[in-house]
Amino acid sequence: VLVSAGPTREQVDPVRYLSNRSSGKMGYAIATAASEAGARVTLISGPTSLPTPDRIERIDVVSAAEMQQAVLAHAAQCDIFIAAAAVADYGIKEQAPHKIKKDAKHLTLELTRNPDILSSVAALPCPPFTVGFAAETENLPDHARAKRSSKAVDMIAANWVNQPGRGFESDENALQVFWEGGEQDLPLAPKQKLARELVKIIAQRYHSRA
Ligand code: C5P
Repeated sequence: VLVSAGPTREQVDPVRYLSNRSSGKMGYAIATAASEAGARVTLISGPTSLPTPDRIERIDVVSAAEMQQAVLAHAAQCDIFIAAAAVADYGIKEQAPHKIKKDAKHLTLELTRNPDILSSVAALPCPPFTVGFAAETENLPDHARAKRSSKAVDMIAANWVNQPGRGFESDENALQVFWEGGEQDLPLAPKQKLARELVKIIAQRYHSRA
């Protein structure tokens, strides 16, 4: 099982970067749950402050481009890819070689769209079973189903990100999981418990597909 987790960092200059609020907790909990269920797990991790879970191979990356390279280097050998990383949608078009000085009153940074790592794995000739996440603030089921078909992935685990006590940085979350012809609600619970339940659903769908 291959898991991506955490945020990515897009370097602006040698001292600054763009990133997001992902703590990596959900991805690390999923990697741990998959390992406890008997899988050999590789975790491709953006910068987090979390310790490496036992018996898991962890590969550290910084940017979205590095994460894509590491994921694609391992995707062909895995049976299941779970994309829990909060990949930056845009990177910096040209990194400044030196620290940008605050001389100008206004500063414009040009951004370019990052590759979609999950879609690139789903588009491989023999893709693994693919699981993506969707963070939504409205109309969660419709957006999650649309994301599953636009990214051509086997399963989407969707969560609300505008409700207190869940999602980003929190120790708890709730998920609504969608696959072809089915869905299941996983109510608010600690991320470790939720991860074990999600791994159980993934295993069931993976084996029924196989
Ligand atoms: O398109 P959106 O960012 O909402 O999709 C979220 C899902 O896609 C997550 O599973 C995330 O890990 C994955 N993703 C990715 N590469 C990107 C953007 C998102 O793998 N550049």
